[in-house]
Amino acid sequence: MATTKKVLQYKEPEKHYDVVIVGGGLHGLATAYYLAKYHGVKRIAVLERRYIGSGGSGRNTEMVRSNKRAHETLPFYKDSLAMWDDLSAELDWNLMVQKKGIIALAHSDGELASMRMQSDSQRRAGIKIDMLDNQQIKKMVPSLDVSDQTALPVLGAQFHPEGGTVHHDAAVWGFAKSAARCGVDICVGIEVVGFNVEGSKVTGVQTNIGDINANKVHVAVGGYSSEIARMLGVKFPVVTMPMQVMTTNIMAPFLNYYVASPRLHWYTQQTLKGDLILGGQLDPFSSWNSYTTWEECSERVATILEYFPDLAHGRVVRSWSGLCDCTGDSAPVMGPSGIDGLSLDIAWGYYGFKATPACGKYSAEYIATNKVPENIKAFSLDRFFNRQRVREVIL
Ligand SMILES: Cc1cc2nc3c(=O)[nH]c(=O)nc-3n(C[C@H](O)[C@H](O)[C@H](O)COP(=O)(O)OP(=O)(O)OC[C@H]3O[C@@H](n4cnc5c(N)ncnc54)[C@H](O)[C@@H]3O)c2cc1C
Repeated sequence: MATTKKVLQYKEPEKHYDVVIVGGGLHGLATAYYLAKYHGVKRIAVLERRYIGSGGSGRNTEMVRSNKRAHETLPFYKDSLAMWDDLSAELDWNLMVQKKGIIALAHSDGELASMRMQSDSQRRAGIKIDMLDNQQIKKMVPSLDVSDQTALPVLGAQFHPEGGTVHHDAAVWGFAKSAARCGVDICVGIEVVGFNVEGSKVTGVQTNIGDINANKVHVAVGGYSSEIARMLGVKFPVVTMPMQVMTTNIMAPFLNYYVASPRLHWYTQQTLKGDLILGGQLDPFSSWNSYTTWEECSERVATILEYFPDLAHGRVVRSWSGLCDCTGDSAPVMGPSGIDGLSLDIAWGYYGFKATPACGKYSAEYIATNKVPENIKAFSLDRFFNRQRVREVIL
């Protein structure tokens, strides 16, 4: 039966908070939830200039996994992936978690060797990983062409059985609703345009409706961290690049796994609804554009059709794009900003959705205790100045 009861009531902001969170994406909402629920912080506001989930949180391709490269970051991603399992029950909201498994294809001996090396360090961190030969791949994904007739033939794959998908909109609503029920004020249409800093300490934010005082301010603005840097008069080591995604018409179920080709920059999954999500690479230029282009769409479709020829009857019915804030070492920035009371959770590029639960948990822990949790130490802003970069990128 239909209900008129509102899942979430937005609030007008008060004049003072213990913690103000800038950005109503998943990271901001999750941080607010963990702060209120597990650290007993009472007066928290999430300030969102558009609508909740309007950034990368509502635009991503929903892939969750823990098979990252740098050994120092594996415990963080492992923790985050495991946390998704219990979140539907904890938030009392169905997040449609599907640990369907991710198959990453290799097209050269070099790639296979590199995947084997990564698999070893991932296994040592307790992450489940298998290597597949072409016969095994064909059995799992009969529609994939693993013959030697493709432009760059498939030579094997890495399989991450615990990886999969979570419904991104469901996650946004689950965290927002639960944070609000813990007393968090979720305020939409409120844009932060500046920060008030006295001496070396943040004392609040300037917004389109006036100043809001805060003991602590946390920044989780997705692709807009350079704007925040400009407001603070500092520089963050990020470059903003859009990423485009397409989706097809609805088809009968045929693809049970998330399949990716890291080398050729494409990945695809069939959603519960039946459409295929076609993901790929970043746009080649830095910008804040949100349009999609014929060039990107046609190139993506052509590359995926090379390996899934039966899809030739399918149609692309929709496309969209979102912003990715990228660092040179493909790892994010979390924790202290250099200004007392101002913490960061930024630069998540195209891989921050999977990290949502751990970002919320560890950001909340840092804000509440002023101690940087072990699992996010590698993500410090300082690493760019003392040459301790994360080895997420293989050169
Ligand atoms: C096309 C695409 C595909 C992706 N696919 C995946 C994937 O498959 N798996 C994965 O793990 N990750 C993926 N990502 C990355 C992921 O979406 C992001 O890393 C993640 O959503 C970041 O969440 P967030 O809460 O930090 O930022 P966002 O969701 O971007 O939220 C930031 C919010 O801050 C608000 N804001 C900005 N400035 C201000 C201001 N001055 N005042 C008030 N509010 C402000 C914005 O309006 C926005 O709502 C993808 C990203 C894109 C673009």
